[in-house]
Amino acid sequence: MPATPAWPPKSLPRLFVRSRLSEGAIVELDGGQANYLGNVMRLAEGAEVLLFDGESGEWLARIAEATRKRMTLAVESKTRQPEAIPDVWLAFAPVKRTQTDWLVEKATELGAAWLLPLITRRTIAERVKLERLQAIAIEAAEQCGRTRLPEIAEPVALKQLLAGRDADRRLYFADEQGGEPPIDAFAPGPALIVTGPEGGFTDEERDAIRGADNAVPVSLGPRILRAETAALAALAAYMTVAGDWRTY
Ligand code: SAM
Repeated sequence: MPATPAWPPKSLPRLFVRSRLSEGAIVELDGGQANYLGNVMRLAEGAEVLLFDGESGEWLARIAEATRKRMTLAVESKTRQPEAIPDVWLAFAPVKRTQTDWLVEKATELGAAWLLPLITRRTIAERVKLERLQAIAIEAAEQCGRTRLPEIAEPVALKQLLAGRDADRRLYFADEQGGEPPIDAFAPGPALIVTGPEGGFTDEERDAIRGADNAVPVSLGPRILRAETAALAALAAYMTVAGDWRTY
């Protein structure tokens, strides 16, 4: 018996829009999105598209008008409620631009709620282009089926992060010098994962993190992982042990 095809078909193009979506709403697409649907996907009036606004869930819409310069969509029905994402924040030390872009894309796919570029003594990239990282997160969310975008914070210094954090949010410190195995360390609940720069944390920084309230050092195994690998490995381990991979 052939399986009932999924509805809406997973193959429908999926776009994030900044305007609030509701049944009957008319959405005007920006040039890039109109070009993508019209010229890349070669869709015409009447074609179906999935939309999400980061708040209200996912909606089925239909191209109402398509001219060379302008494309509008008419929103028809809601296809999915906003998904509950695990309350996990990832504070990562930015690395070279390509690797940081990759990290943000993958952390969005893995389900991070917040991404915090962390400035430490040995962080090589002090400045990050937030708009660029947000665009990368939007594209990753469009592709992986998220209906909520990760928040991307302004870069924060380690001292500031430790001083300003809510101690009820457990801090998981990925420490290559040793810690608890993820299976024992991670537990459901608000989480802040902290991973270091290519050059690692200084001893002073390590002591400050380990000395923080409700902080747990976590080992990601016997090998020294690159900074971007460690950030994603820690996030994946959290999702496995304490996140939404446990239940899906
Ligand atoms: N400076 C370190 C060294 O050369 O010994 C390596 C730093 S590592 C490239 C970058 C960051 O990834 C570390 O600060 C840590 O947060 C994380 N990391 C890498 N391997 C890890 C492991 N096996 N366990 C826990 N964290 C790890």
